Amino acid sequence: MQITPSCRILPGMTAALPRRLWLLLLWLACAGAAQALSFSTVVLDPGHGGRDGGAVWNKLVEKNLCLDVAKRVETLLKKKGLKVVMTRRTDTFVELGDRAWIANRQPRSIFVSIHFNASRNTAIRGVEVFYRSTNGRALASRILTALRARLKTTSGRGLVHGDLKVLRATTMPAVVVEAAYISNKAEAARCATAAHRQAIAEAIAAGILAARG
Ligand SMILES: [Zn+2]
Repeated sequence: MQITPSCRILPGMTAALPRRLWLLLLWLACAGAAQALSFSTVVLDPGHGGRDGGAVWNKLVEKNLCLDVAKRVETLLKKKGLKVVMTRRTDTFVELGDRAWIANRQPRSIFVSIHFNASRNTAIRGVEVFYRSTNGRALASRILTALRARLKTTSGRGLVHGDLKVLRATTMPAVVVEAAYISNKAEAARCATAAHRQAIAEAIAAGILAARG
């Protein structure tokens, strides 16, 4: 929901320091401090569904991967005591506006949409996390860091500012995770295994928990 201000400077220091130095110290304190988000509910949004399969590459259908990973994330987060709301839990089509409507009814929540990417350039691989708001960026950054560490990859565009409809329509910190390029043969082969989908889910859950501070 809101960023908890976590940058502090000792009050006694301020009077003795020239204004410029004080501002520099304040900037350094803020830049170094982690932005913690305050939320108790996670809305998980498995991309696509039903007649909308999403990307189809290397015998993988995106909508199925999204739902599989989202359910794994749900299990992990519930174990940590968070409330989880899913925008779909079966192979059904849900309009983007309805996904946002489901999310916006949840107080103190964040929104994490899970997708898999594809490109005609099959050499492209890696992780991308889209955000639109400042709080969304804080969440995206935590999830990206966890994904890159857990999946041992530095490929992909990483954090991407995107004016996506689902990010525009949601009122809480919101991100869209593109967990891998299934158009890339090597990444598709990994995504076809339950172990890799579990690793993706563990990273997304770890990123969400880290964002909570
Ligand atoms: Zn997608």
